[in-house]
Amino acid sequence: MTKRPGFPVNLDDARKPATGRLAPVKPSAAKTPLAKPSGQALGKSLVQPVTSAPRPLGLGLDSGAVRARMVQKLGEQGIQDPSVLAAMGQVERHRFVETALVNQAYEDTSLPIGLGQTISKPNVVARMIELLREGHQGKLGRVLEIGTGCGYQAAVLSHVATEVYSIERLRGLHDKARENLRHFRLANVHLILGDGMLGYPKGAPYAGIISAAGGDTVPQAWLDQLAVGGRLVAPTITTAGHQALVVVLKTEQGFERRVLEAVHFVPLKSGIA
Ligand code: SAH
Repeated sequence: MTKRPGFPVNLDDARKPATGRLAPVKPSAAKTPLAKPSGQALGKSLVQPVTSAPRPLGLGLDSGAVRARMVQKLGEQGIQDPSVLAAMGQVERHRFVETALVNQAYEDTSLPIGLGQTISKPNVVARMIELLREGHQGKLGRVLEIGTGCGYQAAVLSHVATEVYSIERLRGLHDKARENLRHFRLANVHLILGDGMLGYPKGAPYAGIISAAGGDTVPQAWLDQLAVGGRLVAPTITTAGHQALVVVLKTEQGFERRVLEAVHFVPLKSGIA
């Protein structure tokens, strides 16, 4: 397993008194490849990568080409928003999973990221961001993500929103996300260690709020911190007793709520650990 270097971590700890602006994720001088090329490189790929130069995956595959296939599949599964598909094609998901799981990074599956948590399936990430952007032209404004996890969804969001505030309650994952994201130099992603059930009032009002963890209800703080015209997408327990995607639109008149397909997310928990 590739051992990643430790970095000095500048925590934006929500329990500390406010210190003004949050620091964006800083690029690091140290670059650690996630996986060593296996030495079985397939030679020059015939498929053009979606964006940057091809990067070797653990199996000697070209990650750009593998990602392009993932994006094609997302399209076949019904994802239509071109900016969501472009963002999914841009973010190297293999940089967010453990070395041993790199060859599964572009499969439509959730994967363990440590501390009992998981990175969501690409299809679910794309679907939720598409719902968040519904009715929007151009980039979304400020977005709040509850449940940073490994930082993958925050990276995807950074391409479709002007600012991303992403809050995580587990220090171990908050730190991991910071390390994972450093490589991408995303100046518009702000990581916060804190209890996302309280939202993050300093960044409010938000054009979008997206939760990667499922609660029994949508916390009032999220509704309060949503801008008029803003949308919230969150896995929530329905009256039928199962978890489903819930979309809430805040209007001048009040809230419009829609319950969509059943999903399986890790639980939303309170407090920091
Ligand atoms: N978006 C993530 C998915 C992480 S899984 C990714 O791309 O990897 C959901 C995460 O929500 C877990 O890391 C869990 O610790 C976190 N979580 C659960 N309750 C939370 C809360 N109240 N505040 C912040 N994070 C929370």
